[in-house]
Amino acid sequence: MPGRIVVLPETLTNRIAAGEVVDRPASILKELMENALDAGATEIAVDLERGGCESIRVTDNGEGILREDVPLAFARYATSKIGAFEDIYRVHSFGFRGEALPSIASISRIEMTTRRASSPAGTRAIIEAGEVKELTDAGCPVGTSLLVSRIFEPVPVRRKFLKSDMTEQGYCLDVVTRLALMQPAVKIRVSAGVKMILNIPAVQDLAERIALTLGQDFRRQLIPVAGEIPGVRLRGFVSRPEFTRSSAAQIYLYVNGRFIKDYLLNHAVMTVYRRLTEPRRYPAAVLGLEITPEDVDVNVHPAKMEVRFRNPREIYSLIVEALGGAIGAGITPAAGAFKGPPGGGPAAYASRIEEALKRYRVASGPQKLLFGGLTGEKSGAPAVPPALHFSEPVGEPGRRDERRRFSDLHYIGQTAGTYLIFSGETGITLVDQHAAHERILFEKLLGQAQGEKAVGQRLLLPEVVSLPPREYHFLMETLPILEEAGIEAEPFGGDSIVIKAIPALLSHTEARTLILDLLADCAEASRDLPLNERREKIFTSLACRGAVKANRDLTGGEVTGLCRDLDAIPHAFTCPHGRPLAVSISLYELEKMFKRR
Ligand code: ADP
Ligand code: MG
Repeated sequence: MPGRIVVLPETLTNRIAAGEVVDRPASILKELMENALDAGATEIAVDLERGGCESIRVTDNGEGILREDVPLAFARYATSKIGAFEDIYRVHSFGFRGEALPSIASISRIEMTTRRASSPAGTRAIIEAGEVKELTDAGCPVGTSLLVSRIFEPVPVRRKFLKSDMTEQGYCLDVVTRLALMQPAVKIRVSAGVKMILNIPAVQDLAERIALTLGQDFRRQLIPVAGEIPGVRLRGFVSRPEFTRSSAAQIYLYVNGRFIKDYLLNHAVMTVYRRLTEPRRYPAAVLGLEITPEDVDVNVHPAKMEVRFRNPREIYSLIVEALGGAIGAGITPAAGAFKGPPGGGPAAYASRIEEALKRYRVASGPQKLLFGGLTGEKSGAPAVPPALHFSEPVGEPGRRDERRRFSDLHYIGQTAGTYLIFSGETGITLVDQHAAHERILFEKLLGQAQGEKAVGQRLLLPEVVSLPPREYHFLMETLPILEEAGIEAEPFGGDSIVIKAIPALLSHTEARTLILDLLADCAEASRDLPLNERREKIFTSLACRGAVKANRDLTGGEVTGLCRDLDAIPHAFTCPHGRPLAVSISLYELEKMFKRR
């Protein structure tokens, strides 16, 4: 119909809107749980079939919906939470657009039962293709229960974007975790079919909830944080600087109770920890900001994970000062040289804040926010190594015979605490000690996995570690691979596991840190991979964690051992991440550099 302008039928516009709000089962779950919380529920039960891909049921004991309001709940822009436009700026509830239910209903089938305390009878409703098909009496307890099934059936292409059931379940658990952290008084249960996968009792305070949700290990590491400026109140907990993780995934930020992702706030948190922790280590944090609704725009995107502050600079300073103060008070002098931001003003971090704000403005443009930076700082994709035009690989696959043997080289010394310098008949060779050791460990782990039995070193004292739910599930699922590497772990009740053995090759590392780092490296990155493909990621992580670090002097014996090992393995060219482990400069190249040729 070229040239004709038509108004889209509502079912279609709902479906388009659905694309914005509900892109996977986890986003459906988020909307349903938020509705339950808005309804004042103190108990929420979630049931996920096939990770939420098959069906999602959310049952709450909230206020329920009146029979005559049920059709309205599924109509576009129908909400009980806002009356006038100005109210948009005052909303304290999660929902306010009245978009979620119609959007969800447009791409699934919904069965609902609901009852208000004042109504003697409950209501049962069936909504198909966005329309209420059935509205009958039903006996049911006060509250609301929604069963969403046939998810994305009308939009098959959406289904194609879904990942494995396990992965989708992981996203769902993320949603639950984020909501649970800020709602200590609400009891939350999650089951997958007959299996109970999460059971979080109602508790009095946030610290308790953090421990129950993120793992008891957190409890001992928490430092309370509080701060205030006009119109903004900061409350929460951060971890001691000694308790770091290798990704920023455990930094949970909330604005007016809503989980958000915000580059600026992350940056402020890291400004404090940067001086206290090693590079690329991140604290855990659960921080909530209460901001006068007029001073923050949560309406940036329907999925509402992004916000815009009216006074970002002040909020940044508030975080830096409150965290700095709290941590400064909470750490022993030996743990770091933190002096806190200079009392009077933000002089010390002025340049950092300017840089962050600049980035914030760019990022807050019409495009999506860039959260990259801090969270993406992890090793990431192995960048193409800077071209050393005069260097060549020590050998190439397939030319192994001609490869010079590291053991034949003469060791001269170490430079920059990292590179081993060797002299040989044909020139000089530089070896990156960490990359080399990483490759060696990787090949050995792989060799053991393919061979008879991995050599695990039993721990004298088994270590009990409690884990956030999704990491727990990832670990359980991945146990067979861990066993290949010599790691023995078992469920220990609740969210805990007990580690009984770690790879003998890595016996110099601390079991707890090894496992936590492994999870941080892999739980996110490889949960989409089938089990056998996770192996490489996991072994790479183990090798990296176990390998000798940069900035460590190696003894002569260690260097000899390293060379011997390098000669014994098949792929002595790159580390498992793909960076070169050695470069050579030939005599010819040396002579050219010195203009002898
Ligand atoms: P919003 O949450 O933005 O108002 P929704 O589409 O999510 O929009 O929900 C529409 C309306 O349906 C809500 O305003 C609320 O009145 C009602 N509703 C939805 N879920 C529940 C629930 N679990 N308990 C009580 N009322 C609910
Ligand atoms: Mg809602």
